[in-house]
Amino acid sequence: MVTKENVEKIAEQIIDRYNFDYPLNIEKLTKVAKGEDINVIFSNFDYFLEDNSSLEGALIINDKGKFIIINDNPHLSERRKLFTFAHELGHYFLHAKDKSKFEHQDTIGTFRRDSHWDFFEYEANQFAAELLMPRKKIEEFVKGRKKETIWMISDLLAKIFNVSSIAMKYRLKNLGYIPQESYF
Ligand SMILES: [Zn+2]
Repeated sequence: MVTKENVEKIAEQIIDRYNFDYPLNIEKLTKVAKGEDINVIFSNFDYFLEDNSSLEGALIINDKGKFIIINDNPHLSERRKLFTFAHELGHYFLHAKDKSKFEHQDTIGTFRRDSHWDFFEYEANQFAAELLMPRKKIEEFVKGRKKETIWMISDLLAKIFNVSSIAMKYRLKNLGYIPQESYF
C-alpha cells in the first residue's frame, strides 16, 4: 500500500527528473517509459473482452521485457489514451517496478470495478492525475486568480493541462477547491 503523499512524491520525482513543459503528451510519456526500459506498443484493439468492455491499456513484465500496451483505436480520444498511458505508468512505478513478472489489463471496467484491484486502480488513477495535473502547478495558477470563479479557472486549467473539463473538475474537487458535494 502506498500513501497518498507517497503517490504524489513519486510523481513529483518524475516531473523533476524530466522537467517537461505542460501539457504532457504521448511523446513525453514515451520518454518516461524509455527511461525505465519499457517498450510502448500502440495497437488497435477493437475486440471486446469477456465482461463486454474493450482493452484500454496494459502493463506486462516478463522474461521478454517490460511492455506498456495502449489501445490505439480511433474511437478513443487522444486525451483518453494519454490518461491510460499515465495510469499504466502509475501501475509500474507504484506496483511493479521491482517485479520480474507482472501482468495487468485495464478496461473501462477495471477503472471502476469492484474487486481486489480497486485500491490499485485508485492509486494508479491518482498517480496519473498527479503526473498530468500536478498539485503544485495548479496551486500556483489558482493563487494568481482572484476575479474568476473556480468554474472559470477550471476551464482554463483544463486547456493548459490538455485534459477533459470533467477530469479537471474532479482534480480540483480532490484538491479541495471545489466542494465535495458538487455535482457536474
Ligand atoms: Zn489499472
